[in-house]
Amino acid sequence: MPSLADRHGRSFPYLRLSLLEACNFRCGYCLPDGHRPLPGKPADLRLDEIGRLLRAFARLGMRKLRLTGGEPSLRRDLPEVIALAAAVPGIAKVAMTTNGELLARRIDAWRAAGLSHLNVSVDALDRARFAAITGRDRLPQILDGVERALTAGLRAVKLNAVLLRGLNDDQLPAFIGFVRERPLDVRFIELMRTGDNGDHFARHHVRATVLEAQLRERGWRPQPRAFDAGPSVDWGHPDYQGRIGIIAPYAPDFCAGCNRLRVTAGGDLRLCLFGETGIPLRPLLQSDDQAAELEATLVAQLGLKAASHALHEGRTGLVPHLASIGG
Ligand code: SAM
Ligand code: SF4
Repeated sequence: MPSLADRHGRSFPYLRLSLLEACNFRCGYCLPDGHRPLPGKPADLRLDEIGRLLRAFARLGMRKLRLTGGEPSLRRDLPEVIALAAAVPGIAKVAMTTNGELLARRIDAWRAAGLSHLNVSVDALDRARFAAITGRDRLPQILDGVERALTAGLRAVKLNAVLLRGLNDDQLPAFIGFVRERPLDVRFIELMRTGDNGDHFARHHVRATVLEAQLRERGWRPQPRAFDAGPSVDWGHPDYQGRIGIIAPYAPDFCAGCNRLRVTAGGDLRLCLFGETGIPLRPLLQSDDQAAELEATLVAQLGLKAASHALHEGRTGLVPHLASIGG
């Protein structure tokens, strides 16, 4: 049976699907001026198109789906999308990444629809810092949502923080305190350069590995990696319920463990976050009769996946900002 594998020995059980590009936040590294719809932008995939896409990916071995954006919770039919995904044979995990603004109000509905894993982006635990980084003074509501998510019966709740020099690079002790009694992982993501964020990158980029020495000094140790681990190196401490993870996309060999593909809100397949081509799948999502052609296209395209991104050479690919592809 054909499956999602490339010529570099990697397989791809993980799909990140962007549900829309729009967002209500203004994170300085992503959409500092807020979301501005571009003229001529294709409409977001409809539910029936998403259903065909997910069934084809799942037949080829996709087991974990992450819904992302833009801000996925702004999509009105989100509970229907989650329920549709959870019902696709083969999909074992339905995850979502959100800025968390609507979390407290919606988590029960998302859980009931079948959401299994949740990542909430929280760049600082200090209210003023959070507002300065994201353009929205919403930290208390978001943390309320995180507490609710922890008791909603999800299989995992994680926080994501983009590490930013001068903005939140002193927040490690606060996050460590947060995970003492809470069973959740906080992952620090190294800031990535995109087409639009050159100045912000120059001012605020710092290697995520700087956190390693600070963790070690406090008695934290890197944990053995699971065979299906993502890009995060997770650190643990016997006195703490949660873990701290570090995602360092500029580390050598980062791409060797790549296990994910992406589809944009308008239905383009992206083989790499920083790739230079987008393959339009929407024409193959119009009828159930196209399933075989769609699967053949996915398998053929994977044969073209490059071994590594070219960020080290300053080539950021097609992405103006990660809201356009979902991170
Ligand atoms: N709006 C949702 C959110 O913020 O969680 C989902 C989409 S957002 C693009 C997905 C993730 O990408 C977030 O955790 C965000 O912090 C991260 N991100 C965005 N731009 C980034 C960049 N330039 N470098 C590193 N991470 C970035
Ligand atoms: Fe919106 Fe997420 Fe980008 Fe922040 S990182 S602007 S919340 S899409």
